[in-house]
Amino acid sequence: AKKNGKNRYFWFEPTMENELRFRNELENGIRRGLKRGEFVPFYEQQVDISTGELVGFEMLARWKSPELGLVNPDVFIPIAEEIGVIAEMSEQLMVQAFTDAQAWDSSLTLSVNISPVQLRDPWFSQRLLKLLIENNFPAHRLEIEVTETCLHENLGLVKSMIASLRNQGVRVSLDDFGAGYSSLSQLRSLPLDRIKIDRSFVSELRNKDSSKIVDAIISLGDGLQMPITAEGIENEDILAQLREMGELKGQGYHYGRPEDGSQMLERLAENGKL
Ligand code: C2E
Ligand code: CA
Ligand code: CA
Ligand code: CA
Repeated sequence: AKKNGKNRYFWFEPTMENELRFRNELENGIRRGLKRGEFVPFYEQQVDISTGELVGFEMLARWKSPELGLVNPDVFIPIAEEIGVIAEMSEQLMVQAFTDAQAWDSSLTLSVNISPVQLRDPWFSQRLLKLLIENNFPAHRLEIEVTETCLHENLGLVKSMIASLRNQGVRVSLDDFGAGYSSLSQLRSLPLDRIKIDRSFVSELRNKDSSKIVDAIISLGDGLQMPITAEGIENEDILAQLREMGELKGQGYHYGRPEDGSQMLERLAENGKL
């Protein structure tokens, strides 16, 4: 076993070194990118699935890295959280998104994802409200998306911050619902405006178990009088099935891939939503 371990060590060492170096370069790249304004908002359409009407956009972060090209958030958000720059990154993105959204029809909402790390900061809600005022963006057009992970650490703090944001008109959605655990007890204890069904269930709706779960979440929402968004609507079949299941908002590749601010403006012009 020892020999084996030694062999493995011998073979893995160069890879680990490379991985460390790559990781290091990513961290530096992210810090540099923040200074240079390389993090930009993309947008995904949110639609009323029964009428097909566009109701808003979810902002999804992208990194325009000079070295790596367009980088997806799954790569850089966890690192930004770890190296302590997620709040700064999020605020940079929101300022850009507030500016973009000001050009849209004022009926359209803007949803932004908030990291659990940001919700550890007791000043989070104050900072967000200040950002709204500084950028002249109406609180009632903003929706924040939080995940259950944010509730594990300091439920009391998170609850009171969410309450003060909602007091000012900001709406709060529970993202990725069903994917985590202890979802039900949290639903009761949190003041929320909307539940977003995790896309893993929606995109697998052909699957009988997934469709039962989606059905159950929809009745739960009905019972709690909480509106529901289905994400991950990838095609017409899924859309048709969801339409039978309830009155929902939806989003997903069927409605379009995430696009940057200027592509979005063209789309809005086509739809008379400017
Ligand atoms: P999410 O909040 O669940 O966002 C939805 C993700 O699903 C997006 O990936 C979107 O491009 C993708 N998606 C949309 N429609 C479909 C579909 O029909 N099928 C499939 N398979 N996927 C679809 P993206 O943009 O790569 O974002 C990944 C995650 O990164 C997001 O998941 C969110 O948790 C996080 N994220 C994105 N932007 C931010 C941000 O500004 N701050 C924080 N903290 N997290 C962010
Ligand atoms: Ca989200
Ligand atoms: Ca989600
Ligand atoms: Ca997610």
